[in-house]
Amino acid sequence: MTHRNEIDRHLLSLLEVARFKDYGPNGLQVEGREAIGHLVCGVTASAALIDAAIAAKADAILVHHGLFWRGQDGRVTGWMKQRLAKLLAHDINLFAYHLPLDAHAELGNNAQLGRVLGWTAESRFGEQDLGWLGLLPEPISLDDLASQIARTLGRSTVQAAGDGRPLRRVAWCTGGAQGYFEAAIAAGADVFVTGEISEPQAHYAAEMGVAFMAAGHHATERYGVQALGQHLAQQFGLSQQFIDIANPA
Ligand SMILES: [Zn+2]
Repeated sequence: MTHRNEIDRHLLSLLEVARFKDYGPNGLQVEGREAIGHLVCGVTASAALIDAAIAAKADAILVHHGLFWRGQDGRVTGWMKQRLAKLLAHDINLFAYHLPLDAHAELGNNAQLGRVLGWTAESRFGEQDLGWLGLLPEPISLDDLASQIARTLGRSTVQAAGDGRPLRRVAWCTGGAQGYFEAAIAAGADVFVTGEISEPQAHYAAEMGVAFMAAGHHATERYGVQALGQHLAQQFGLSQQFIDIANPA
C-alpha cells in the first residue's frame, strides 16, 4: 500500500507538471482513500471507466483526460454529478495528467506511439515542444502507412494526400492536435499523424504537399497511461491494469 500523496508527489516531479500551461489541473483531481494498492488506468475518466474501476476494486484511477477543463461552467450536474458521485461513493482517487503525459520523453503518449509504430524520434516542434519529428523505418506510400497504422492501432484512419512523394520524415502528436499541422509542415515533415482531422487540414495537405493522417484521438492516446501505470507498479509495488473503453473518435 502506498499513500496517495506519495504517488501525487512522485508524478508531479516525474512528469514535470509545473512546466506546462494546460487546459485543466494535472495531478490528484478527486481525493479518495489514503492507501493505494490497486490502480486502474484508462484514457478518459468516463462513467464507463469509473464503473469498471469500481468492479475491479481499484483504489485509484489514472487517466489522460480527467474531469475538469477550462471553459466548463463549474456546475456539478448531469454527467459530472454522475461521475463524481461514483468516485466519492467508492472513495476512489482520480489522478489525471494531460499535456505532461503527452510530452514525457519515455512514458508519454508521443514517445509510446512512436515506439509502438517503430518510428525513430529525432526532435520536437510546436507549442510547448509537444510535436515529435522523426523517421519512418523506410520510405513508404500514404496508403501503405495508413494500412500499417490501422493494423497496429486496430482502427481505420482518415487521410488527406499531399503531393504523393514517398513518405520518410514523419511528424506526430497524439490526440486532437490537428492544429499542429502547419507547424509540422514548417518543421519539414512529409506526413503529419495525429488523432483527429478537421476541415481545413484537407486543404492544407493538398496546397502544401504534405500528407495528413488522423489515426484516432482515443487510439493514439492509449499508450502513455499504460507505460505510466507499469512504471508506478514497479516504483511502488502496486498492482495495476489498463481498461480500454472503446471510443470511435
Ligand atoms: Zn486527448
